[in-house]
Amino acid sequence: MNLPYAEPYKIKMVESIKKSTVEQRKKWIKEADYNLFNLSSDKVFIDLLTDSGTGAMSDNQWAAMMSGDESYAGSASFLKLKDVVKKITGFSHFLPTHQGRAAENVLFSAIVNEGDFIPGNSHFDTTKGHIEFRKATAVDCTIDEAFDTAAEHPFKGNVDLEKLKKALKENPKEKIPFVILTITCNSSGGQPVSMQNVKEVSELCKSYGIPLYFDSARFAENAYFIKKREKGYEDITIKEIAKELFSYGDGMTMSAKKDGLVNMGGFIALNDEEVYKKATVFNIMYEGFITYGGMNGRDMAALAVGLDEATEFDYLESRIEQVSYLGEKLIELEIPVQHPIGGHAIFIDANKFVPTIPRNEYRAQALAIELYILGGIRGVEIGTVLADRDPFTRKNRYPELELVRLAIPRRTYSQNHMDYIVAVLKNIHDTRDQAKTGYRIIDEAPIMRHFTVKFEKI
Ligand SMILES: *Cc1c(COP(=O)(O)O)cnc(C)c1O
Repeated sequence: MNLPYAEPYKIKMVESIKKSTVEQRKKWIKEADYNLFNLSSDKVFIDLLTDSGTGAMSDNQWAAMMSGDESYAGSASFLKLKDVVKKITGFSHFLPTHQGRAAENVLFSAIVNEGDFIPGNSHFDTTKGHIEFRKATAVDCTIDEAFDTAAEHPFKGNVDLEKLKKALKENPKEKIPFVILTITCNSSGGQPVSMQNVKEVSELCKSYGIPLYFDSARFAENAYFIKKREKGYEDITIKEIAKELFSYGDGMTMSAKKDGLVNMGGFIALNDEEVYKKATVFNIMYEGFITYGGMNGRDMAALAVGLDEATEFDYLESRIEQVSYLGEKLIELEIPVQHPIGGHAIFIDANKFVPTIPRNEYRAQALAIELYILGGIRGVEIGTVLADRDPFTRKNRYPELELVRLAIPRRTYSQNHMDYIVAVLKNIHDTRDQAKTGYRIIDEAPIMRHFTVKFEKI
């Protein structure tokens, strides 16, 4: 018999989570105006809203917290973190920031100008936000397969080289400050980019004299997929794969709340001295002095340990295989989810799950609410509610996909929790034909409505 994966850790401390009844949850979600963001966490049994900053730190990370150096300048914890980042990424310059979007803000303040174009695979929301805020344009060059939830492809985060070539050819070089590769590609469902693709993108960038940056929030998960799926990498360690991957680029931004295994933090690492100098000024203005950049000494100390742990195979295996375990169970039950299963989340395809609910009644939101009512599970809608209204016509924008995302926090839930989620979803799936009506919006903000929107049941 093949041995299954098993977590390379045991539990030293537990955090209670509260069970509740269907009746209680019906009342709570109504009081929350059917917006899952409005629920206090004690009303949630399994919280899959995000995998960002919601994971568990190890005993070694907690121990490191106690030895954090809180010096304003020249903190030993900063030097230690800088050293670990250099070892893992190879980049020579390092700037800490308080989280990933802050790293984007600092770096983009230094190198993005009005009218610029920034090609890449599907840009993450905050990345796109920081590009568009500067009146620049994010050009999505992801392969077409990424937009078909049923298509099987081992590296759905890959860049389509023809699309990238077109973007590089059509715009003047001075208008393209860099190309950005998001690893894994969050917006296409936590899908990885192959080493081959990274190499080809890198060569193309070099031939046009344009730098390549990585949005690296889940770089370790991406390295795991390369090891498992790409020929020639079976016997290479995760740390070696990550180092090779970063060697094809010029720098990176990082949300340490993901593969840094900490609850808050981020950084920039890069080679170009000039860009580093420029970014330093913005770091001091927006984040703090360059040896802490919005982070506590103890948080930098925990991050140094976290980066090392996150790039160990055994940890990554248990992490990715747990997500995969959940996904494969759902596939067995013919519950429509995105294929193949990505690194950090399951995406349920609400268009296939509840086509009986009209689109203008927010079917993915309706499914997310049902999951909460029947199981106390909090996911998040990635569909019409999130897509918001067209800024000019004020009509709803209907994206191609209506998804419910279940993001799995790192080292947090057990296999029993995964089985519980499967059972709740199966029960909803068995009675899906009865779902005929959804929700109506009764109040919404002019932009970013999904956080505060209020609904009523139709
Ligand atoms: C989370 C994330 C960010 C932003 O990081 P924050 O720490 O949430 O500010 C940027 N890019 C990707 C791919 C992410 O997943």
